[in-house]
Amino acid sequence: MAHSNQTDPHGFKRRGVLFVLSSPSGAGKSTIARKLLAADNGLQMSVSATTRPIRPGEVDGKDYHFVDLERFRAMVANHEFLEWAHVFGNRYGTPRAPVEAMLAAGRDVLFDIDWQGAQQLHQIAGGDVVRVFILPPSMDELERRLRGRGTDSEDVITGRMARAANEIAHWDGYDYVLVNDDADACFAKVQTILEAERLKRSRQTGIIGFIRKLERAAEA
Ligand code: 5GP
Repeated sequence: MAHSNQTDPHGFKRRGVLFVLSSPSGAGKSTIARKLLAADNGLQMSVSATTRPIRPGEVDGKDYHFVDLERFRAMVANHEFLEWAHVFGNRYGTPRAPVEAMLAAGRDVLFDIDWQGAQQLHQIAGGDVVRVFILPPSMDELERRLRGRGTDSEDVITGRMARAANEIAHWDGYDYVLVNDDADACFAKVQTILEAERLKRSRQTGIIGFIRKLERAAEA
């Protein structure tokens, strides 16, 4: 599925990276995603569709495509999703067409999806997918961060704490696992992972010409 229109830091063509960030909500993933996108114009966000109600401050089309159940079901029936899953009693899915367009345009794609989405994406796109899981420093800190947001009711917070443990239980479905005890340090590590993945030999479809040139020069 991934295209080879991307360029590595040396300008060689390479396969695109499908970069998945997962964590229990409140572990700092959204901040990291926002900073990554701001720092790196080779990376674009996949905007999911969801049936969950919009929260204050969220923007339809930017944070999510907010759709009703009927529309979501139609999208599933029309094979419009790369993956979709039930999360916290709502449905969330990754629209296929924008991801394919971003890859074709030479961008890497960032996904903020849960472990079910990470698993499905990996089944479809294999080694083009890089799965990063971000852990909170402790469950107490996670609860503190969730309450600090001030957007969710007590019931929702209790539910999210219960589900965080379930999400964490799937840590072994990821390629990288980080603890977000220092936001800047964690962000720097995520950037390093992306840079290293871009340089992986298996993605370097365009480097062969350069290698041949080096070989010819060595023979001369
Ligand atoms: P929230 O409702 O707090 O924005 O997101 C709840 C959870 O749904 C998060 O763990 C988020 O990563 C996950 N999620 C968001 N979009 C998708 C998606 O398209 N697919 C899957 N599988 N999970 C998603």
